[in-house]
Amino acid sequence: MHTTCGNRAVPPRKVRRPKYIRSLDEIPQIPAAERERLRPVTEKFVLRANDYYLNLIDWNDPADPIRRLIIPTEDELSDWGQLDPSNEERVTVAPGVQHKYPHTVLLLCNEVCGAYCRYCFRKRLFMDDNHEVSIDVGPGLDYIAQHPEVTNVLLTGGDPLLMSTRRLRDIISRLREIPHVRIIRLGSKMPAFDPFRILDDPELLATLSEFSTARARIYLMAHFDHPRELTEEAVAGIDACIRHGVMCVNQCPLIRGINDDPDALATMFRELSFIGCPQYYVFQCRPTAGNETYSVPIVEGWEIFREALRKGSGLACRARFVMSHALGKAEVLAVLGDRIYIRFHRARDAAVRGEVLAFERNNDARWLDDLRPIPDLVSDRLPAEVLEALES
Ligand code: SF4
Repeated sequence: MHTTCGNRAVPPRKVRRPKYIRSLDEIPQIPAAERERLRPVTEKFVLRANDYYLNLIDWNDPADPIRRLIIPTEDELSDWGQLDPSNEERVTVAPGVQHKYPHTVLLLCNEVCGAYCRYCFRKRLFMDDNHEVSIDVGPGLDYIAQHPEVTNVLLTGGDPLLMSTRRLRDIISRLREIPHVRIIRLGSKMPAFDPFRILDDPELLATLSEFSTARARIYLMAHFDHPRELTEEAVAGIDACIRHGVMCVNQCPLIRGINDDPDALATMFRELSFIGCPQYYVFQCRPTAGNETYSVPIVEGWEIFREALRKGSGLACRARFVMSHALGKAEVLAVLGDRIYIRFHRARDAAVRGEVLAFERNNDARWLDDLRPIPDLVSDRLPAEVLEALES
């Protein structure tokens, strides 16, 4: 049906909806024999993709980074890691509610993403017997209302932009009724996986505009892993968010075969600074089950990260390289000689926050637990149990 504008007929806006797939059989570019070999992998860790994102793959390049991000590999079956290596269960205070750092609460309000990153640290949420996500955010909102120290709420999961706009609006408007919640963060990879979710939904943009106010902003915590994801559509999606009052930043893990390359990382940091979505964190890959093939040792990752930071303007190199460890966000400050210096950028325990520790250099270490602290270089302010956890 056409509407009219003066005497001129205006064609209806064409809503673009990528076609979502859940089976390798729907990806003819993968040879049948390979699909067969990968079947046990997708039975263990599910597949989800869409035609927009698959179209970014250069199928002639077996090492294509976008392919690596979305297409399974048999290496995921190696016996390594845990389903919840950062022990998020320990900071779960109500169904779907995590409270680890004083000012920030996570609401896990959706258990689906636009596609599934193969290295996902929360892949347990996509498994049938997982109940960590709560569709009912009521208990979470009650908890937040009772904790005046909570100024930031992160909607995550899963991807909050996969929820209907009506549901998202309901959650955001109820959060805005809690005066101490100033920042609402949306943790989303939809600008990369399906930017049309933003571009083709005026009601979503109106909601963002209404509830991102001068003194209480909405932040989009975008998740681009590689500069090739910054397509015209993706950049337009970020632009639409900015023009509707949303602050945008990017965070991503450092992943073998995707962005373990200083040039790719530097290009992404630079482009992100140009479009108004600067890099915030680069995460060390969590030792999550299935992730051995995606993990880069800490020292190597730090060197890649440091090299990438050398190639941009100040606004393109504000990121921190961190491990989201059960003890807190451990920022890798430097690798010098036989030592690795780490600072707890965030921590549950106030006595740990901001502390700098020195560890023996270990080029094979992939997680804080693989490092040994140097006793003389550990602050005596650290609680005994934290020291014990670091030394065990
Ligand atoms: S977007 Fe985030 S939560 Fe979703 S699959 Fe990727 S890493 Fe996991």
